[in-house]
Order: sequence, then C-alpha cells, then structure tokens
Amino acid sequence: MNALNFLWLLLPVAAASGWYLARHVGGSNGVNRPSNGLRSDYFKGINYLLNEQPDKAIEVFIKVLEVDSETVETHLALGNLYRRRGEVDRAIRIHQNLIARGTLSPEQRNEALLELGQDYLSAGLLDRAEDLFQELSETDAYRVQALRQLIDIYEQEKDWEKAIVSARRMEKLTGNQLGGVIAHYHCELAEEERQSGNAPGALKAVQKALDSHRGCVRASLLEGDILFQSEDYERAIRAYQRIEEQNPDYLPETVERIHKCYSSLGRSGDVDSYLYRLMDRYGWITATLALAEIRQKEQGVHSAIEFIASQLTRRASVRGLDRLLQLELEEAEEGSTQHLRILKDLTSELLQDRPVYKCTHCGFPAKSLHWQCPSCKHWNTIMPIKGVEGE
Ligand SMILES: [Zn+2]
Repeated sequence: MNALNFLWLLLPVAAASGWYLARHVGGSNGVNRPSNGLRSDYFKGINYLLNEQPDKAIEVFIKVLEVDSETVETHLALGNLYRRRGEVDRAIRIHQNLIARGTLSPEQRNEALLELGQDYLSAGLLDRAEDLFQELSETDAYRVQALRQLIDIYEQEKDWEKAIVSARRMEKLTGNQLGGVIAHYHCELAEEERQSGNAPGALKAVQKALDSHRGCVRASLLEGDILFQSEDYERAIRAYQRIEEQNPDYLPETVERIHKCYSSLGRSGDVDSYLYRLMDRYGWITATLALAEIRQKEQGVHSAIEFIASQLTRRASVRGLDRLLQLELEEAEEGSTQHLRILKDLTSELLQDRPVYKCTHCGFPAKSLHWQCPSCKHWNTIMPIKGVEGE
C-alpha cells in the first residue's frame, strides 16, 4: 500500500485536531498547546499507515472519531479512498463506524449512508445496498442519487418491475424522459413471458413498451417474432415494417425475418419489392445479399454474380465482395481458381472476428446486437456498423 496517498488526506485532520484541542483543552499558561490525546493518536494512525498496517491505523482513526465528530469528512474521504483501491472491507468498516456514531448530523449520516451503499455495491452485496438506497430515496438531499443507484441494482438483479417503478419516480423528480429505458424494462418482461410460453402476456408487455416509447425498435422486433411463432405472418410483417419509421438503422435486422414471413405466406414477389426498397433507399448490403440469394435459387449462380457485381459498382462493400468471390469460386473451372482462392481467403480474414455492431456511446465492438451495452450499460446505443466493412 502506498501510505503517501493517505497523508494529504490526514494532514488537515492533524491540524484540525490540534485546533480542536487548543480550543477545548487549552494550555496551562495561556498558550494553546495540544499535548497528547487526539493529535498524538492521529500521528500514531499515520505511522501505522506508513508502516503498511492499515487495520491498526483504522482502529486508531475510529477511536479518535468517538471523541471528535469534526473529522467526519476526513473519515468519509478515507473510506472512499479504500473503496477506490478495491479494499472494500476496510471502507465498509470505516463507514459503518461513522454511521454508528450518535453525534452525526442528519446530513452527515445520509452522506455516510450513501458511501456505505456504494461500498456494498462494490462488494456485490446488492440486498444491503438496496435497503440503504431505499432509505436515502426518501431524503431530500440524496433522492436522485439513491434512485439512480436503485435502478442500477434492479437492472443487475433483473427485477424489471421495481426498475420501472424507480425510473418513473426518477422521471417525476428530474423531469428527464426515461421512456426509452422503461420500454426496455417492459421488453425484458415480455421476453420472460415469451420464454415461459405465454404469448398473450408477452404481447401485452410489448404493448406497454410501445406505450412508454413509440420508437422502441426492440418492441417491434419482439412483437414480430412472437406473432411469427404464432404463425400470424401478416401482423408480424406489419410489426417489423414499423421499424422503418422508428429507426431505419435497424432495418437490416428485419431482412431475414420478413423474408421468412413472406415465404411462409407464399408471396415471394413481395419479398423482392421490400428488399429492393431497402437496398435502393438505404443501401443496406444485407438486403443486396438477400436479393442475390433469391436470384441464385431462382435463376442460378451466374445471375447472382451479375447482380452483386452491378451493385458493388454502386457501393463498395467487403461483405459483398466476399460473397461475389464465393459465387465465382463455385462457377469457376477446376484448376483456374488459385487467384480467386487467395482473394477469397483475404476477404474472409478481413471479415472474421470483425464486429458488426458498435456502441455509439463508448465504442464497445460487438458481434451480436445487445440492447444494453455490456461495457457502459447504456441502453439503445449499440448500432450496426455502416460503411465498406459493415452494413
Ligand atoms: Zn457502451
């Protein structure tokens, strides 16, 4: 442990304890001379820190606190420092001792509660943290902070009902719109219903998600998936197509789904017109490749090759080139594929392990679509990557 970190923290304490003694004890000859007691205890504590004996140091500081409640801020800072260093047990001891003092003002007690709650969070003691933050969410000064922490806890515990209640309270308190996030909580509930085989319950939860946020793409995808499973293809298509108004960036997610719906309905012509529209209006390579696949099935490999090649002249795409080379290899004569093979290996390597999605908030790269970023925990920030190497 680098004890020097603590010294800057404790210097004002040593000074304050001297000032305290000077005022309250005083010197016998009229000169303020803090002799023993607090000040020497602090130096003893600092000495323990310097000698890498943090537990003994904590004992001393806690003992001093019993006499002197003017050093609360320093104890809070000391506890925070321990937590930041990952020494959560020590942080908890310091903050618990602070709270146990009957001399703390209500503000000081709440501040110590907030810190202890964060210690518990760091230690993974979510139940204990939840109790503290619930208490703090009733106070004026820490209501918003406590609610923020509670929402975080409920997300970790996947307690979506409680997360919704806390987020609604937060909305009222701050005036910030949290409908986009609350919609995801309803979607999580819908997923749970769907997994337990309750399609009507899942659809109800999806509707609540859309009521919270009309632009919730996830709700539309989920609604379409549930309806597809129930073989209600017409309504599934309508749910998927709603995404175009919500956020066209997510339209590539609908390509395969809508394709399956129209195929199940035996309306292949409608697939074509939908995919052409996506390709022409947005340039999504996923739509181009899906059209190429249909051509390959209906008119053969050569037609698919010509189609992709003509599209690549309009818009460069590694995924498009990779598929083109794949088809060329299938068409080529045995023995004349050597150069094609080299090129195909190159594009495969370029695409291998390449993220398809990226968080617009923290830049986290992902191979699959997450609705909550695994890194920064923001909702709705993971988007398909666009450009030559992406969509
Ligand atoms: Zn992120």
